[in-house]
Amino acid sequence: MSFSNLGLNQRINKALKENTYKNPTSIQEKVIPLILQKKDIMAKAQTGSGKTASFVLPILEFFFNKNEEKKEKTKAKISTLVLTPTRELALQVSKAFGDFSINFENKPKTVTIIGGESLTQQLLDIQKGCDIVVATTGRLLDILDKKQINLSNIEFFVLDEADKMLDLGFEVELEELLKSLPKNRQNLLFSATYPQKMLNIASKITTKALEVFI
Ligand code: AMP
Repeated sequence: MSFSNLGLNQRINKALKENTYKNPTSIQEKVIPLILQKKDIMAKAQTGSGKTASFVLPILEFFFNKNEEKKEKTKAKISTLVLTPTRELALQVSKAFGDFSINFENKPKTVTIIGGESLTQQLLDIQKGCDIVVATTGRLLDILDKKQINLSNIEFFVLDEADKMLDLGFEVELEELLKSLPKNRQNLLFSATYPQKMLNIASKITTKALEVFI
């Protein structure tokens, strides 16, 4: 199987080559076509399996189809939210969105919302308009409480390393955050393990997810 069989556009395929991604990993091979078919996903995937690209690439395909032909620039709406348990992972995911859309004429704008960095700058970046928010829960809830972010246009909700998020005690925060999201959205859950606690929270996020266990 090669990336060119997965239904991604030429500009993404070019970026994959430039990043020396030759063949998809097994999670990428399974998950990318399902996300492109608009399915909700509950994937069991370890760090190192290539899980980041398995959601970043099809989400970028959505932006490519939506924006690439657009001649006029309109103010971006946040349509993708990725939640991660740690700042480091948030930065890695944001970088992947940038790396794989490098050849787009209309690149989606990504803002990283994490603790330990300037809140003022993050608020400015949100106000300027962005398409993708990659966030850790605490700082995002801070900004939501201040009513400085609108998550009502979310089309993709990604929970990355969800079990780690629960281990860090973010269950209540996560439930709080879900209240700000529209009901109609595509949910993509990635977790290395699926203990009961994880299944409980997953059932509050989606009841129609396809399970992808690699
Ligand atoms: P992840 O599991 O998403 O953290 O990815 C682990 C590492 O594998 C990262 O350094 C990725 O850049 C790399 N990687 C992911 N998918 C591929 C691929 N298909 N080909 C080559 N490297 C990859």
